[in-house]
Amino acid sequence: MSSSLDVVVIGGGQAGLAAGYHLRRLGGLDFAVLDAHPAPGGAWQHAWDSLHLFSPAAYSSLPGRLMPPQQGETYPEAAHVVDYLTDYEQRYELPVHRPVRVQAVRRDGAHLRVETDSGTWRARAVVSATGSWSRPFLPAIPGRDAFQGRQLHTVEYRTPGEFVGMRVIVVGGGNSGAQVAADLAYDTDLTWVTQRPARFLADDIDGRALFDHATARRRALDEGRTDGGGVASLGDIVAVPPVREARDAGLLKAQPMFTRVTGTGVEWADGTRAEADVIIWCTGFRPALAHLAPLGLRGPRGHIPTRGTEAVGEPRLHLLGYGDWTGPASATLVGVGRPAREAARAVAALLR
Ligand code: FAD
Repeated sequence: MSSSLDVVVIGGGQAGLAAGYHLRRLGGLDFAVLDAHPAPGGAWQHAWDSLHLFSPAAYSSLPGRLMPPQQGETYPEAAHVVDYLTDYEQRYELPVHRPVRVQAVRRDGAHLRVETDSGTWRARAVVSATGSWSRPFLPAIPGRDAFQGRQLHTVEYRTPGEFVGMRVIVVGGGNSGAQVAADLAYDTDLTWVTQRPARFLADDIDGRALFDHATARRRALDEGRTDGGGVASLGDIVAVPPVREARDAGLLKAQPMFTRVTGTGVEWADGTRAEADVIIWCTGFRPALAHLAPLGLRGPRGHIPTRGTEAVGEPRLHLLGYGDWTGPASATLVGVGRPAREAARAVAALLR
């Protein structure tokens, strides 16, 4: 199959849908959203059972439609986000094709050729919104391969039930690490390890305040005022209720990072050891950009240099939702709307 379109959006998670919403709204553009997943919802489909958003529903919404509140939950569960995204793409009749995995994007004269596992698409512009869930990051720690117990990354963690009574080491001082550690704090022999001392945000700060902070910072930078620091300057961990409870019960005491993994556990620089049955690496993600490799745009740190959402070396390509380097707070539900609008407008202007 070979189809020719104005715009191909790669990825049908929240970022791809927000791009679709704005492309639809602008009108007159022939576009498709290609998504590798067989079902709607992007990465939210894979979240662990106890994951809750760190903002209330109304503050976790994509452009156009507020997320409805979830009955009995101030902070909605991941399944509620999946329902919301499923409804969103139907409501706005977004042309999402599933499952279609994009393998490569190449220049092809006036077009970009989008090669997939089910045919080739030709587009005058491409918006890449493939997220990072498919690229879990594991740090290079000596001895990692020698460990005889089970190792998993956040992406494979579901529920504490399968670890009851085990000696578990959770690595990571971000929100994922803190939430998984809180989940495991009651029924396992838990060691929580973080690279630097765990930094909890004040209990009254949730995702709303983080978004306000990111917005104020963007305004300050736009106006040439002093940079007060990104959201990281506030702390790393949102004290969502389960994290707060485990911390207040004295169950979330972070240890410094160990220096090597042994066959049966981990070891610190001073020779102290902890034995373990399981190590869970909550050590983050990298942007899923392999399909863009043929364009030769990679810059330092594996990112593609961007001006706003536009790839500096290829104006027909926009990158959306990967993090602050593709728009402030663009890797959040509420934050992706604005860069999605900017990308759609830029694409429309380019094609006119
Ligand atoms: P994804 O949701 O990963 O969607 C990308 C889509 O692209 C997927 O459907 C995938 O199948 C598809 N894809 C990937 N590669 C290809 C390819 N080659 N071809 C075709 N399709 C492809 N944000 C909030 O706003 N509030 C929160 O409370 C919050 N909590 C979070 C908690 C955790 C633990 C994590 C990890 C993130 C959280 N986030 C939160 C951040 C953010 O909202 C998510 O990371 C979000 O899922 C990113 O959306 P996305 O559309 O960019 O990527």
